[in-house]
Amino acid sequence: MFDIKLASKQHNNHESIIKIGDESVGSEELCIIAGPCAVESETQLDEIAKGVSDLGIKFMRGGAYKPRTSPYAFQGLKKEGLRLLKESSKKYDLKIVTEVLDTTLIEEVYPYADVFQVGSRNAKNYQFLKELGKTDKPILLKRGMSSTVNEWLLAAEYILLGGNENVILCERGIRTFDTSLRNTMDIAAIPLVKELSHLPVIVDPSQGTGKRSLVTPLSLAAIAAGADGLMIEVHNEPEEALSDGFQSMYLNSMKEFTETIRKQANLSNRTLNLNTLTHTL
Ligand code: PEP
Ligand code: MN
Repeated sequence: MFDIKLASKQHNNHESIIKIGDESVGSEELCIIAGPCAVESETQLDEIAKGVSDLGIKFMRGGAYKPRTSPYAFQGLKKEGLRLLKESSKKYDLKIVTEVLDTTLIEEVYPYADVFQVGSRNAKNYQFLKELGKTDKPILLKRGMSSTVNEWLLAAEYILLGGNENVILCERGIRTFDTSLRNTMDIAAIPLVKELSHLPVIVDPSQGTGKRSLVTPLSLAAIAAGADGLMIEVHNEPEEALSDGFQSMYLNSMKEFTETIRKQANLSNRTLNLNTLTHTL
């Protein structure tokens, strides 16, 4: 390990709590960020946003600009997707986490996002990370699919060095020799990062496994290992999804999911950041 300064425990010997409006990530309350991989249509997003907010979930994810491996795959609704995210965020009082793909899109996405998601593919785009460091928007920094923990923390360091202290780390699986799953979720990275850094760490078991049935067990494992939250892909009709349907939870299974997660959170002496006034549990 070398060169980690601003992100290190030595620099800041307490857990950083990242403020996102009136919400926070990194406190004893675990956050759940749920939503579709991609924004696909007004009806799709409205149904998911309603379902998610009915459960008391405060953060919704949804890609308007999608980084797809194939140029022939759905690339996102772009500006229209951002507009739909804003509409849902107002209607259902949800904080929006959405990906910003490159430097040229920072300004466009800025008014629509409460948190900028920085994707795995950009975790080594140092010029972009520097530009994000100049913004005042909280950043959810995915681990690069071939980044070591050290490289991941150094990516965060680039953002912190620019003056933006609001970085949330997100483990989303790495590529290993084992191709049984889409990625290999590195559970050990969670307590390791907690030892090395003051930054909050959440996990994305949807990209992390690429398999719906593994999202709950890996969520439980991540919380037991000390994660500060979860990012979960959910869809009203996963079979019809334009991206990542095979790893998306069914919207109607999310109530059971949050209940299961709550039990594990309590075992870890954490609570769940769910809106108990409106949720229907
Ligand atoms: C996603 O969250 O849909 C995504 C593309 O994530 P990642 O950058 O981790 O692949
Ligand atoms: Mn996805």
